[in-house]
Amino acid sequence: MKSVCVFCGSNYGTSEAYSQAAWDMGKSIAEAGQTLVYGGANVGLMGMVADGAIDAGGKVIGILPKALQEKELAHTGLSELHIVSSMHERKAMMAERSDAFVALPGGAGTMEEIFEVWTWGQLGLHQKPCGLLNIHGFYDHLIEFLDHQTTEGFMKREMRNMVQVAEKPEAILQLFRTYVPPSTPKWIRKSET
Ligand code: AMP
Repeated sequence: MKSVCVFCGSNYGTSEAYSQAAWDMGKSIAEAGQTLVYGGANVGLMGMVADGAIDAGGKVIGILPKALQEKELAHTGLSELHIVSSMHERKAMMAERSDAFVALPGGAGTMEEIFEVWTWGQLGLHQKPCGLLNIHGFYDHLIEFLDHQTTEGFMKREMRNMVQVAEKPEAILQLFRTYVPPSTPKWIRKSET
């Protein structure tokens, strides 16, 4: 695993623990000798994760759409900053340049990004691990809902289990190292319900 993509909030959230966790996530990726790939902004948890990696001497690749360059404010201290023409191009490039994907606390943008790469994995378009860093129980309700989708027959257990969950950055990186993608198709036959 050479590079890890982090999706996270462009805001800071109400608890200092979120910023600290973002910093630690960046630091852990750098200390593991991996490259951080992220959205390229210097605001919110996005800025914190980049700064944590840079402070630990890591390589950081930012990918920012032109339209967001001013709104999200491009980070100026990155190893590489790619300004792309659309959100679609950003997500495609992030997916291509990364070997694993983790979501830290965030808003709708963070949800959209992690769900998209997870669903690409479900369809077998890639075999890369996806995970949630569950700081302060931030993702407890979402995890509960994913289990609900599974018990209600809309998702196979193997697909649900593709989403790795950990509370500490080192722990999620370790889960990624041992990740085995499912070998079964995502669709549930009528006879299985
Ligand atoms: P948020 O979690 O809403 O603070 O957004 C975090 C990141 O997701 C930011 O880099 C946003 O630019 C990005 N983002 C926001 N909306 C979307 C979207 N619809 N699709 C993909 N990324 C988005």
